[in-house]
Amino acid sequence: MNKLAKITAASSCQLPITDHAGLRTALAEANLPSLLMVYATYTQDLDYVKSFAPYLTGAYTASAPNTVPEAMAKDLRDRLFDLLTRPDAPAEPVLDPETLRQMMGVSVGEDIAPSLVPVLYDQMGFEQPVPRKELPGRPTPPAGFKVLVIGGGMTGIAAGVKLEEAGYDYTIIEKNDELGGTWYENRYPGVGVDTPSHFYSYSFELNPEWSTYHPKGGEVQNYLTSVADKYGIRRHVQFGTMVDEARWDDAGNVWKVTLRDVKTGATRVETATAVMLAHGVLNRWSMPKIAGLDTFKGIKMHSAGWDPSVSLAGKRVALIGTGASAAQMGPAIAKEAAELTIFQRSKHWVLNAPERNADTVSEGIKFALRHIPHYKEWYRFRVYWFTGDGLYPNVRMDPDWPNHDVSISPSNDAARTYALGYIQERLKTRPDLLEKLIPDYPIFGKRIILDQEGGWLDTMMKPNVTLETDAIDHIEADAIVTKGGKRYEVDAIALATGFELTPALGPLKVYGRGGCDLAAAWGHDEARAYLGVMAPEYPNFFMTLGPNSAPNHAAGVNMVLEAQINFIIEALDMIVAAGGHAIEPTMDAYLDWNRRVEEQMKQMIWSHPKAKSYYLTSTGRNFVSCPFTLADYWTWTRRPDKSAMVVS
Ligand code: NAP
Repeated sequence: MNKLAKITAASSCQLPITDHAGLRTALAEANLPSLLMVYATYTQDLDYVKSFAPYLTGAYTASAPNTVPEAMAKDLRDRLFDLLTRPDAPAEPVLDPETLRQMMGVSVGEDIAPSLVPVLYDQMGFEQPVPRKELPGRPTPPAGFKVLVIGGGMTGIAAGVKLEEAGYDYTIIEKNDELGGTWYENRYPGVGVDTPSHFYSYSFELNPEWSTYHPKGGEVQNYLTSVADKYGIRRHVQFGTMVDEARWDDAGNVWKVTLRDVKTGATRVETATAVMLAHGVLNRWSMPKIAGLDTFKGIKMHSAGWDPSVSLAGKRVALIGTGASAAQMGPAIAKEAAELTIFQRSKHWVLNAPERNADTVSEGIKFALRHIPHYKEWYRFRVYWFTGDGLYPNVRMDPDWPNHDVSISPSNDAARTYALGYIQERLKTRPDLLEKLIPDYPIFGKRIILDQEGGWLDTMMKPNVTLETDAIDHIEADAIVTKGGKRYEVDAIALATGFELTPALGPLKVYGRGGCDLAAAWGHDEARAYLGVMAPEYPNFFMTLGPNSAPNHAAGVNMVLEAQINFIIEALDMIVAAGGHAIEPTMDAYLDWNRRVEEQMKQMIWSHPKAKSYYLTSTGRNFVSCPFTLADYWTWTRRPDKSAMVVS
């Protein structure tokens, strides 16, 4: 970004604010660094901003009690009150990137690289981009140019919004009878989002109304469907429909897509110029292969296939798995079950997420989000930083760091110390649990569990909860038996055992130029793509969250999906601008990208010999994680590099 940035307040943020009592409450409750940024947005008084620098700290103390001296905090609140209520409302500011960068740095207590400013500016929602179809001089997609989107979850809905804004005719194929994807399907007890939703949401639809910082699944689902309704997405959706096959027609330069009605099984073929895969990565679940599981006579439900009408109250419940889903289910189940036995196969690092301790978003803070201009954008920036790229150094191995067995870099070590301190403090009365729970691999080697008071670790200590670390040997009609011969009689088994990620296409068949078969090319473990989005020989076929594009160092799936949708529409625009029919990456670009991914991956924690996770294929190759920062990935997906593309 080398031009001045004009920042436009949302329409709900009109100055002057006339509800003085509401504003006072908001200023008292709102996040102080974010308020400082609002003040600085209007005044650009960098000296004043920098006077707060000694008191604003970096990651892992992000939500620690405010250390800004009360007199300074009061001064800031008073200044803001005057600014926001004065009859001659201040003009909408224009910020130059360097001022913005310095402000951001003070706000999060860390230096911000100049290269990050454009991505932060875009993704924080400071300025709504002009819909593509309103851009002067942009060629209009020709009649009959049709995009078929597979999946109506978080990605499919955003794709619909952006395709519409770009003037493309599109259809979303959704297997369920409602939009929302993961958030529609996952209904297990306690289902919710680990990433604060003030960030885990669309940059083009910031929501000041989240009831908590980590909303439950239903609230996320309502957000997604309300966005879909606002933008009129539903009329483009074919519900209850599966895609079985997509086949490129070389002669017609179109995809022939075989669709199947989920209820009747009837199939039909539709034609599309482009196909966008938005069917999610964590989508295919199945019962794990545990001997005797099918002989169990009691209640048996997988997290992703949960029937919420089934009550576990008063029952003896087994929970298999200790990943992110289990850590949400466990506390909810333990509240009502007579007994809960948690079966742990391997240890997961648990990290304190202090903001969860005050999870309800107060009315004062909602007032700030709704009415104080730019507060919700600055707050989003803060959340992004502490849950997004600010965490990248944690997962990158520092060759100079001495003992990689324990940790891989100074910041990884700091995160370990922070997590360890939390676990030890929380479990101080239960040394038996400490021994069972503290992992022997560096933190972030697999996905961490976020915790808070009353959460996962506290649940482990409840009198009705047992943590079993002996491996399961087999399951009988009414019991789970461990290798050591311990028999747990249970009424219900809750399976939080994750998803099948390989083979990456699942049952979907994709045939490109000359009938080449993507599933065969990838085999079980070799899914690769260019930027995680395209592959040579598969023209106009676009993946989202495809190979090596998941932001596993941090939160930010929302950012990646927006970046990929942007890239895809830019690629479609290249076809239109060239008057062509098809676009695909060159083999060189594809090979080069995969070489870069492989090189970078060697430096990442997921390549640590002790790190085992679902990111790895059976051959130990990480095909899920993007080894680069969100900001870099965002930058590279602004538009396709012409030299990397063939338009025909
Ligand atoms: P997961 O991370 O794959 O965890 C599965 C758990 O089941 C692991 O503890 C695994 O042990 C265990 N397991 C698997 N098969 C087993 C078997 N046969 N016997 C015993 N234990 C077995 O799955 P998940 O918890 O559903 O989470 C998947 C992903 O969904 C997360 O990483 C996250 O990306 C996403 N998620 C997000 C949220 C959110 O808040 N946004 C919430 C839930 C999930 P091992 O560790 O030994 O493999």
